[in-house]
Amino acid sequence: MKKAMCAGIDVGATYVKIGLVSSGGKIVRKTQIPSKIHAPAAEMLGRTAETIRQMMTEDGYELAGIGIGTAGQVDVDKGILHEAPNMPDWKEVPVGDILGGHLDMPVVLDNDANVAAWGEYAFGAGRGTRFMLMVTLGTGVGGGMVLDGRPYRGITNAAGEFGHSTLDMDGWVCGCGRRGCVEAYVGTQGFKRQVAEKLKAGRTSLLTRIDPEVLMPVDISRAADEGDALAVEVFRDTGVYLGHAIADVVNLLNLERVVIGGGVAKAGERILGPARETVHAICLRVPSNAVEIVPAQLGNDAGIIGAAWMAGCLRQDE
Ligand SMILES: [Zn+2]
Repeated sequence: MKKAMCAGIDVGATYVKIGLVSSGGKIVRKTQIPSKIHAPAAEMLGRTAETIRQMMTEDGYELAGIGIGTAGQVDVDKGILHEAPNMPDWKEVPVGDILGGHLDMPVVLDNDANVAAWGEYAFGAGRGTRFMLMVTLGTGVGGGMVLDGRPYRGITNAAGEFGHSTLDMDGWVCGCGRRGCVEAYVGTQGFKRQVAEKLKAGRTSLLTRIDPEVLMPVDISRAADEGDALAVEVFRDTGVYLGHAIADVVNLLNLERVVIGGGVAKAGERILGPARETVHAICLRVPSNAVEIVPAQLGNDAGIIGAAWMAGCLRQDE
């Protein structure tokens, strides 16, 4: 008998990551293909289906289910990608119908930040919890929630926009057009701004060597590793900003665990430590005592594993 595998797909603006996931949540094979976001989305979905078919045939597996996460706003019930800011040519794409048509199987679609949260919940840092928030730090700042053991999406699948909670009504301008959002401080642009403000104040730093336009969080990490005080401070401030926003959610929802993931989260305790201290310092006592702030465990695989889990063909008890 052929072994059944679940396909998990994670669509980003640069690559489509595709994995075959065993029923116990292990990725047995994965690959990536270019997203080619200026070609029609149907073309990308066709190549994705072809890649899955090839992987299944080569390894002699049988397809048990398909889940797919994409950036942007989606309709989970209808399997439609409405739009995604970083993939502007793809609008109102019936992802479920197209991909499901190619592979002759229903497809479950959700937003990528949600899918990463489901992955961490089922097989990563959120395992064993019932009330969890995952925060994804990257170019933008995403969020996904599990409440009472169920993925929480809100009435129109728009829940979890942690990055656009307000830290400061008169604060820095965010990519969404509003002021003072969390993302404006701890998204990639936020890091640039944090560094620029400190340098403008006359501070010295290894970071003065880098063109502010191309400065990335990884450069700040490197400088912090070399003992640069300004870089260390940027991460600490980032943790404090995050901690304030997380504390609001914890007071509101009495969460059990907050999982911090995404590329920037590689800075680890430099961000998590101050975030934790801030949450415990400003949260009300009872919810504060109940919550843990922990790093994500699945890294870039969270999207693939979460997508496969969402398709309903994985078990959490293995
Ligand atoms: Zn915003």
